[in-house]
Amino acid sequence: MTHSTKYIFVVGGVMSGVGKGITAASIAKIIQSRGIETTAVKIDPYVNVDAGTMNPTEHGEVFVLDDGTECDQDMGNYERFLNRSLTKTNYMTTGSIYLSVIQKERNLEYGGRQVEVVPRIPLEVIDRLGKAATKNKAKVVITEIGGTVGEYENILFLEAVRMLKLKKPEDVALVLVSFVPALGAGGTELKTKPTQHAVRSLNSVGLHPDFIMARAHIPLDKKRKEKLEFMCSIEQGNVVSAPNVENIYDVPLNFEKDGLGEKIFKKLGLKSRIRDMKDWKKLSGAAKNSRKETKIGIVGKYFGSGDFTLTDSYISVIEAVKHAAYALKMKPIIEWLDSEEFSAQGGKSLKKLSGYGGIIVPGGFGGRGVEGKIAVIRHCRENKIPYFGLCYGMQLAVAEFARNAAGMKKANTTEINPKTPFPVIDILPEQKKNVEEKNYGGTMRLGAYPALLKKGTIAYRAYVSGHRSLVSGRISERHRHRYEVNPKYIERLEKKGLVFSGVSLDRRLMEIAELPRFDAAHRKRETHPFFLGTQFHPEFKSRPLHPHPLFSEFMKAAARSKKK
Ligand code: GLN
Repeated sequence: MTHSTKYIFVVGGVMSGVGKGITAASIAKIIQSRGIETTAVKIDPYVNVDAGTMNPTEHGEVFVLDDGTECDQDMGNYERFLNRSLTKTNYMTTGSIYLSVIQKERNLEYGGRQVEVVPRIPLEVIDRLGKAATKNKAKVVITEIGGTVGEYENILFLEAVRMLKLKKPEDVALVLVSFVPALGAGGTELKTKPTQHAVRSLNSVGLHPDFIMARAHIPLDKKRKEKLEFMCSIEQGNVVSAPNVENIYDVPLNFEKDGLGEKIFKKLGLKSRIRDMKDWKKLSGAAKNSRKETKIGIVGKYFGSGDFTLTDSYISVIEAVKHAAYALKMKPIIEWLDSEEFSAQGGKSLKKLSGYGGIIVPGGFGGRGVEGKIAVIRHCRENKIPYFGLCYGMQLAVAEFARNAAGMKKANTTEINPKTPFPVIDILPEQKKNVEEKNYGGTMRLGAYPALLKKGTIAYRAYVSGHRSLVSGRISERHRHRYEVNPKYIERLEKKGLVFSGVSLDRRLMEIAELPRFDAAHRKRETHPFFLGTQFHPEFKSRPLHPHPLFSEFMKAAARSKKK
């Protein structure tokens, strides 16, 4: 059966941070599970052209797509829930919309007419949503509009919804994800009034929600549902309870239990006989049955109390650990380690590392906490604690190895010390000009690049056993960096035992560095359970049902090290 493209918009009421992204991803998932190709779009209402120039401590993780788009962390949720790789058509910001309208104006594409904010900006949004459908071959496009209704910032996006709905009323559904608070700690009397106001606010821009997802710390009782239906004129049954859950991957299953799929299909006139959530149920079951607790430490700089927590800033790393763990029936206990604590206190703090099954140093920029991270890496290397370095974590592992195992005292990345006697990590030649000219937006080495794996290495075996297609030893992984291993030092590092198990196709860029697990002379003697770093970000390609092979290998090593 062919349908015209259907559009679902997800907007937020009362306050931000109530899980619009997970709600949108879950709705997309249940539609997809009924055999209808679905894609998800995120609209962010800020003027930044993309998320690349934003500090993760303020905005959360910068997610990277295959095509190099630097975007909001919600895009990661979409990819993980849908098991699809999305493209730049799936992401837009106020800045990017204005930029293209202004560029079109400069190119005389509006034929000499006056270019007005309305309708031009909303029309550009609608045009891009159509492109997202085409590019992703999707019948349903689900779009999350950032921010909260009633703010100035997203008003033009709501105008786009209004215009689209006016043209194709039967093809558009609007979902309001609203917070329903209770007074007092542990309160059970949920208050619907703020949500009623949010609906009024939507009404004032000519919109009315078809569904209300009521986010609360507990399930919404029948009386409250009826009250919201009555006060907000919502069709009976279309107020859906969305209580807090322990595992985000349970949300689609909970929505289906509430019959949300059926209701959305009815609203949009969609039909399908397929309903296949088998794999997803298995995943949810695996998460519940994962009992072997393993402590994983993630070393980052402490952010203090801001809007965004460490969890927001490293969300893909955390999810990748979980995906790998669940498949191995392990229950990961993730703890944050403040890198500055290690630089300040050194040895004393380092002792506590042996309490972890494994340590991760994730991506990062700048000098704060770097010496602490290097001290952690050294401790892991010397004390056989499984270590996994992601991007910055790989670069710092190379610097640590150079300093302490290859006799290059004070070796460093030039990002931290441009005058180091051993610049083992240096800026990519093609990046130099950008930095000199302060041309920062979208100029890093970004997106998916292929790499070649060396046979017989930990990385090679991991990818083979992870069933990743390894056509002629090739992988493809996502990048976001300006610096790389300096080719001048490769030979010297290799001589001392560091193995570059993944390299770019032209063999110029080192993509993976590792220490062999076993002593070459005595094949059975383990020299290190797992010491590996990647110049790319494997976490961006981990999916709940397809854990990333390197994360799986790291978690296996963590399990073997049998520490809690
Ligand atoms: N700061 C390093 C670089 O630019 C690492 C970047 C990262 O970890 N994403 O190369």
